[in-house]
Amino acid sequence: MTSPGSILIVGASAAGLSTAEALRRHGYQGRLTFLDAEPHLPYDRPPLSKQLLSGAWEPPRVQLRGQAQLDALHAEFVLGEPAVALDPAERAVTTVSGRVLRGDVVVIATGLTPLRLPGQDHLEGVHVLRALDDALALRHALSAGTRLVVVGEGVLGAEIAATARTLNLEVTLAGMGGTLLNDQLGQVIGAMLAEKHAERGVRLRLGVAIEELTGAAGRVTGVRPASGEFLPADMVVVAIGSRPATGWLEGSGLPWATVWSATRDAVPPRGCTPSATWPPSSTKGSAGGCVWRTAPTPPSRRRWWRPTSSAPTARTRRSLTSGPTSTTSRSRRTACRRRRPR
Ligand SMILES: Cc1cc2nc3c(=O)[nH]c(=O)nc-3n(C[C@H](O)[C@H](O)[C@H](O)COP(=O)(O)OP(=O)(O)OC[C@H]3O[C@@H](n4cnc5c(N)ncnc54)[C@H](O)[C@@H]3O)c2cc1C
Repeated sequence: MTSPGSILIVGASAAGLSTAEALRRHGYQGRLTFLDAEPHLPYDRPPLSKQLLSGAWEPPRVQLRGQAQLDALHAEFVLGEPAVALDPAERAVTTVSGRVLRGDVVVIATGLTPLRLPGQDHLEGVHVLRALDDALALRHALSAGTRLVVVGEGVLGAEIAATARTLNLEVTLAGMGGTLLNDQLGQVIGAMLAEKHAERGVRLRLGVAIEELTGAAGRVTGVRPASGEFLPADMVVVAIGSRPATGWLEGSGLPWATVWSATRDAVPPRGCTPSATWPPSSTKGSAGGCVWRTAPTPPSRRRWWRPTSSAPTARTRRSLTSGPTSTTSRSRRTACRRRRPR
């Protein structure tokens, strides 16, 4: 088999960089080009919600490789140019500026993109945390505000809440799961983590769907869970999961691109679990649906459409501050269940 003359890697992060390094390690001598939507050389995301968010580290420290190591790859980096289309037959990728890059082989390593709540993009003060620039924007907001609400009781939400508490902010963590990280760690360990967060001053509102982000003059003012309570906030972080960043592959003819880009459809890809529902009460009448968490969840944990009947342990009861899930959110979950393909 002949070696391809050129390889175009779309996505210059951990996966794309490892691919290039492995190729060179195995003797590949052809042309290597990276294309990435972000303007930064490859960096590590795990510190974004920890050391970088807390201010302990500055951006240069999160770089995955030093300049000498990158130079040794003899690769071209085209940065700050999102890919918007792929022509598989031509092996051609078009960028947002209209530039066309070609490779004998095209590697798709575009990772994930965060799920959003409806309406959040129109409100200032609502953040997601996926990229370095997101982390810097959130860090700046944390230094200027006092009340943070984190929506999402998964790993990222829990990390952000914990980091924000070290900065002495008033932090509320709200999510649909009955404990923290329930999907990843189960109820017992999740409840222990919830207890730790509560001990450190994180206000927990668990087991509630977030119905609405509220705002005034274009700025977020708080979050309204299905329980009807109002959680005031100067800033909100939405950490409700992510989906593959494959929107740019729509129309390419790649079959899975269509499946994964249908994230907001009422019918989820098999094995996905809904992580939020809409419309929120403020936008009733608009097209409704479910946001689907893309990580498959074992059937035993699919509580969203089959709520567990097991009673919380004494420890769980002590550590959870929220009341039972409202009828409204339960009926929405039922609606989601009905739309699920057989
Ligand atoms: C805040 C945070 C904390 C984390 N903490 C941990 C942790 O503690 N432990 C752990 O194991 N994992 C952690 N992770 C997960 C880990 O960072 C990811 O698993 C890893 O980044 C995946 O690498 P990747 O290269 O597949 O995708 P990504 O890192 O998502 O990179 C994809 C790249 O593709 C680019 N891209 C996307 N769309 C386009 C487009 N259309 N055109 C061009 N470029 C595009 C993006 O800009 C990005 O640079 C964390 C992630 C985040 C966001």
